[in-house]
Amino acid sequence: MTLPLSRRAQGIAPSPTLSIDAKTKALIATGIDVVNLSVGEPDFRTPDQASLAGIAAITANFTKYTDASGIVELRRAIAEKLLTDNGLTYKPEEIIVSTGAKQSLYNIFVTILNPGDEVLLPTPYWVSYPEQIRLCDGVPVDLPTTESTGFKITPQQLEAAITPKTKALLINSPSNPTGAMYTPQEMQALAQVLENHEIYIISDEIYERLTYGCEHYSIARCSETLRARTFVVNGFSKTFAMTGWRVGYVAAAQPLVKAMSSFQSHTTSNPSSISQKAALGALGTFDPRTVEEFRARRDYVVGQLAEIPGITCSNPEGAFYVFPNISHYLGQTYTSDDKKRTRIESVDQLCELLLTESHVSAVPGTGFGAPRNMRLSYATSMTQLHKGMERMRAFFTHFSS
Ligand code: PMP
Ligand code: GLU
Repeated sequence: MTLPLSRRAQGIAPSPTLSIDAKTKALIATGIDVVNLSVGEPDFRTPDQASLAGIAAITANFTKYTDASGIVELRRAIAEKLLTDNGLTYKPEEIIVSTGAKQSLYNIFVTILNPGDEVLLPTPYWVSYPEQIRLCDGVPVDLPTTESTGFKITPQQLEAAITPKTKALLINSPSNPTGAMYTPQEMQALAQVLENHEIYIISDEIYERLTYGCEHYSIARCSETLRARTFVVNGFSKTFAMTGWRVGYVAAAQPLVKAMSSFQSHTTSNPSSISQKAALGALGTFDPRTVEEFRARRDYVVGQLAEIPGITCSNPEGAFYVFPNISHYLGQTYTSDDKKRTRIESVDQLCELLLTESHVSAVPGTGFGAPRNMRLSYATSMTQLHKGMERMRAFFTHFSS
C-alpha cells in the first residue's frame, strides 16, 4: 500500500523544460538524430578560468561547509559586478549565493509569502515561477501580455492589478520564454506605479548579458525606495554556460538576505564550495562574441519561421529563445508520409508530433501560460539550427484544414 503524499507533492508536476530535455536526451541515446531546441542551456564551454578554479578548489581541499550565504570573496566580487555592470550598490552582506537561481527564487518566495498572498506574474512566464509560488502557499495572479503589446505589461495594467492581497510583482527582463525586454524608460514608468504601493519586487535578471540592442536596466536602479524592497536575482548558468555548477544569487536589503540565509542554512547549508570558487573564476570572463553568435542564431531562426505560412513570431530582444504563435495549426490535420491523419487539438500534441515525426524537440507554450505558442531555444550550434529549421519547414507542409 502506498500512503498518500502531501498536498504539495500531489499538486506539483515535473518541470516541463527539464522533462522534455530528459526525454529528448533519452531518444538521442537510443541513436535517433533529434535536434534539441527544448532546454535553455548554452552550448558554449564553461570558461577555463572557472573550471580551473573549481579544480584548484578540489586539490586545495576547499571541500568543506562554507558560510550559509556563500564565501565572502564571491559575495564581494558579485557586489563589484553589480556596481560595474548594473549601476547597483550592494554590500557583501546584502548578497546571498545559492544552488542555482532556482533556489534563489524559492528562498525568496518562502521568505515573503504567507498563505493566500498574491504574486503578480506577467504572462507568458517561466515555468517554475507559478509552481514555486504555489509550493510556498502563495497565489500566482496572471498579468496577461500578448505579441501586440510586445509581451510587456503596461503601467496602467499594473496599477489596476494591485490589490491589498498583492505581496509582490515578478519581473523577468529579458524574459524566458519571450525574449521581451523593458527599456529603461518603460522600467521607470513601472517603477512610478510601484513607488505608491508597498509590495516586493522580484527582478529575475539571469539573461541580462544576452541582449541584442535594448539596454538592460534593473528596476532596483529606479529609486532607493524600490531598491529597499527589490530582490535582484541572477546567476552563472546562462552568462557563463555553467548550468550544471548550480550557482545563483540574490541581492536585497540586509534583513531580507538574513532571512533567506537562515532558511538556506536549514535546507542546503550552502552552495557547493567547489562551485563557488569556480563562479569566482568565471566573473569577468564574459566574452562579448557570445552575444554576436546568439544574435546571428536568433536572426536565422526568426527569418526561417517567417517563411512558414501561418506562424507569427516577434523578434526577441534578449535571452536565447523564440516564442512563435502556432495557433493557426490548431484544429488542422497532419498527414504523415504513410498517410496517417492526426487532428491537432493543442500545442502539446503538435510539439509531440514534431518530435516523433520530424525529430525536433520544442517546448509547448502551455507550461509558460501561453497555449498558442511554442518555445524554441537557439542555444545550440548553427549546424543544429539549420537542420532543425529545415525539418520544421518540411513538417508544417503536412497540414491541411
Ligand atoms: N530564471 C529564469 C528566467 C530561467 O530561465 C532559469 C533557467 N535556468 C532560472 C531562473 C534558473 O537558473 P539556474 O537555477 O540554472 O541558475
Ligand atoms: N531555465 C531553462 C529553461 O527554461 C533551463 C531548464 C529549467 O531550469 O527549467 O529551459
